[in-house]
Amino acid sequence: MRLSSFFMPTLKETPTEAQIVSHRLMLRAGMIRQTSAGIYAWLPLGYRVLRKIEQIVREEQDAAGAQELLMPTIQSADLWRESGRYDDYGKEMLRITDRHDREMLFGPTNEEMITDIFRAFVKSYRQLPLNLYHIQWKFRDEIRPRFGVMRGREFLMKDAYSFDIDPASARRAYQRMFLAYLRTFARMGLKAIPMRADTGPIGGDLSHEFIILAETGESGVFCHKDWLSLDVLKDAPGFADDLQPFFDRTTAIYAATDEKHDAATCPVPESDLVSARGIEVGHIFNFGTKYSKPMNAVVAGPNGESIPVEMGSYGIGVSRLMGAIIEASHDDNGIIWPDAVAPFDVGLVNLKSGDAETDRVCADLYAKLQTAGREVAYDDREERPGAKFADMDLIGVPWQLVVGPRGLKTGVVELKRRATGEKEELSIDAALAKLA
Ligand code: ATP
Ligand code: MG
Ligand code: MG
Ligand code: MG
Repeated sequence: MRLSSFFMPTLKETPTEAQIVSHRLMLRAGMIRQTSAGIYAWLPLGYRVLRKIEQIVREEQDAAGAQELLMPTIQSADLWRESGRYDDYGKEMLRITDRHDREMLFGPTNEEMITDIFRAFVKSYRQLPLNLYHIQWKFRDEIRPRFGVMRGREFLMKDAYSFDIDPASARRAYQRMFLAYLRTFARMGLKAIPMRADTGPIGGDLSHEFIILAETGESGVFCHKDWLSLDVLKDAPGFADDLQPFFDRTTAIYAATDEKHDAATCPVPESDLVSARGIEVGHIFNFGTKYSKPMNAVVAGPNGESIPVEMGSYGIGVSRLMGAIIEASHDDNGIIWPDAVAPFDVGLVNLKSGDAETDRVCADLYAKLQTAGREVAYDDREERPGAKFADMDLIGVPWQLVVGPRGLKTGVVELKRRATGEKEELSIDAALAKLA
């Protein structure tokens, strides 16, 4: 992408409406635009990152054996009356009436709809286990939308739903998602701690929230200090293995949200207990037959008996993750994207656009890096070098390749690593070999 034609409306000034650093940086980098309270348009730079995050989530869901489908955003109120949640959900649900006066709603979650799809087609225990997920926009009329995409009203969620014949099988489904979540967040460079959590209006008994520790987080959390240095995926099993031992040893290290934490019964001595704030980036539930019973999602068992299926649901805040990643990875100059979610792999900085030799070398590098499969942000604008460096740091591209007439005299370019600020001078070929 040539930045001279890329739609990236960066801001020089710090936007005053943004209270936390991730929101400020997303606005300054021209990634999002609020269109009404808690509702955002994703500008090209932001959308590139959103798709990267989404793709990592997708790959790990697929690896865990879940299957992707796509359900609509608009749902019928009737389905929610069947589960009893239409009235329970309250003002967070955006209710809509169509031209025939039918009651509809913009889905805040999809348990009812997936249960309806399931019961229409799945009739035998032989078709189980099954885990279906989608990545779709949700709407919750949050009382206080804030912190940019962190607490939006419209937001992108991955939600998966598991169906099993008995509690033991449902537990295995839960453990597969537990592992998939740890792998997903680790791939984004995040340390997410699974914490015992309240099940809230979704109901059930077994539940974990995945929390990124951050001062700006909206959840109060408690965990054993061992979590801070733990490499949770070291020696982790694969999805085909028995996950029970891994699940047991991981959940044995204390971690709980403030709803679940009780100082009186907490097994961790105070000196080892960390009390902190955190961002909820994922939440998994096992809720048994809470929906299958009222909605009559039953299958025939081995002896022909009718069995309500055991269910679980598993959410990830895909759009919230972008804020969480920035909260966890930035400095005074801007965002520091982990490689896996960066909008571009390489930022190519032309120090003197219009200089024939510099332009020629840059165009050549740009072409070769792209041929090698790298996504390149080529800053070919007629700006001062200082402005170009500032923008590259702001948008957080992991590698910056700086090309100018002075270096070219001796055949060298400069390569900078955004995360460390480390710079080295290299020949053009050596730089290509390193990046391609
Ligand atoms: P919160 O406690 O932050 O309100 P929640 O517990 O209501 O979240 P869940 O119903 O568990 O949310 O939804 C699954 C995931 O969706 C959450 O873990 C979170 O990452 C994300 N999410 C929920 N609400 C929002 C929102 N308003 N904006 C962005 N992401 C959200
Ligand atoms: Mg909520
Ligand atoms: Mg919550
Ligand atoms: Mg939750």
